[in-house]
Amino acid sequence: MKYFSTNRKSPEVNFKDATLSGQAPDKGLYFPITIPVLPASFLDKLAHLSNEEIAFKVIQPYVGDCIPDKDLMNIVNKTIAFDFPLKQINENIFALELFHGPTLAFKDVGAGFMSCCLGHFAKTIEKEITVLVATSGDTGGAVAAGFAGIEGVRVIILYPSGKVSNVQELQLTTWGGNIQAYEVDGNFDDCQSMVKQAFADYELQNKMFLTSANSINVARWLPQQFYYFFAWKQWADKNRPPIISVPSGNFGNICSGLLAMKSGLPFKHFIAACNTNKVIPEFMQTGNYQPQKAKATLSNAMDVGDPSNFVRILEIFDQQFKGIQKAMSSYSISDDETIHTIKKVKNDYAYLLDPHGAVGYAALEKYLSAHSQEKGIFLETAHPVKFDNTMEKILGYPLPLPAHVKSLYQKVKGSIRIDADYHALKNELNK
Ligand SMILES: *Cc1c(COP(=O)(O)O)cnc(C)c1O
Repeated sequence: MKYFSTNRKSPEVNFKDATLSGQAPDKGLYFPITIPVLPASFLDKLAHLSNEEIAFKVIQPYVGDCIPDKDLMNIVNKTIAFDFPLKQINENIFALELFHGPTLAFKDVGAGFMSCCLGHFAKTIEKEITVLVATSGDTGGAVAAGFAGIEGVRVIILYPSGKVSNVQELQLTTWGGNIQAYEVDGNFDDCQSMVKQAFADYELQNKMFLTSANSINVARWLPQQFYYFFAWKQWADKNRPPIISVPSGNFGNICSGLLAMKSGLPFKHFIAACNTNKVIPEFMQTGNYQPQKAKATLSNAMDVGDPSNFVRILEIFDQQFKGIQKAMSSYSISDDETIHTIKKVKNDYAYLLDPHGAVGYAALEKYLSAHSQEKGIFLETAHPVKFDNTMEKILGYPLPLPAHVKSLYQKVKGSIRIDADYHALKNELNK
């Protein structure tokens, strides 16, 4: 498979080069030149296949001959070595739980897959690979867990001081070894801009093999398709495909779902569930894309004012607004609605949502109230304990911590505090 840049000014590359470089030189995003169509015979027998068989079949055409099938099979097995259960919440609404991985959020799959691929490619590269990533909370932990102990790769994570949850901070800062976390005296935008400056610094680029692990990397983006195949595998009423609601921030996850639909999954319609960062809900109303400054909300992993994967959605639908409208609706859910939804679903159905899943649930409910004959699935993208401080404020009592989270609290935070200034970062990178 070859990938072109959405800005169309850089040459096409294979999976290996797209993964190693992250973003195209012309600052576009890599996109596959063709979208594979999976045979009906495969989709019909999904229920009888293992998750590993499904995932391999879905991802293999995208990787091509860049990784031998045997190695790719091992990578896939390692990436999805946990459950993705579909749970019924009420008559019409189901949750696809994506939080059973090592850092309790769906990003574990993309980050795990990408780290294994980079580890594979690192063997062919002389220099050590430095992965540099800014995180608002979830990405950093998933990337750290994915890369911990991988030879030939060191990982530098920047996170905003005081702006991530307790559990998130521990998942970022307690690894040691090839993982180093930097606590930046600033906000997420500062962290992001320091990373961008590093990628624009040719002196640094010449010295080290620098790459990013953010969600635009094809090796993080593409394996997220697995969730949608696992959902269809578990969906009982194959004659009535579900509506799929995806809590969205950078739109990588939902965009991979739309790709899976193009490959043949018979889903009826997608819902992009957003918090009050509503660039896409407004775009769906007006056809006008107006980036905004990100606003802080309870679902902080979705606080994005200019979703980077939007350009990929345009590619999937050949830039046709009509096609996007047919496939997708979008809703903006306020923090008040998020709190109300968490309390209501807990009371009525004894199911505890996290703030991101709650946005997905609330948006799905809105859609279903106007389409009462449909049923739907929302993606529960994180475990509620991951946001223990927020959840305690909403519920009025602390959540019981599962054993593996409790043991996190016993570990010692090991991060280096730096100013929100590129030179401070450069000094550290040069050490
Ligand atoms: C990252 C994240 C999202 C948003 O996913 P995108 O692919 O950026 O749209 C939603 N929920 C949780 C818990 C996340 O960590």
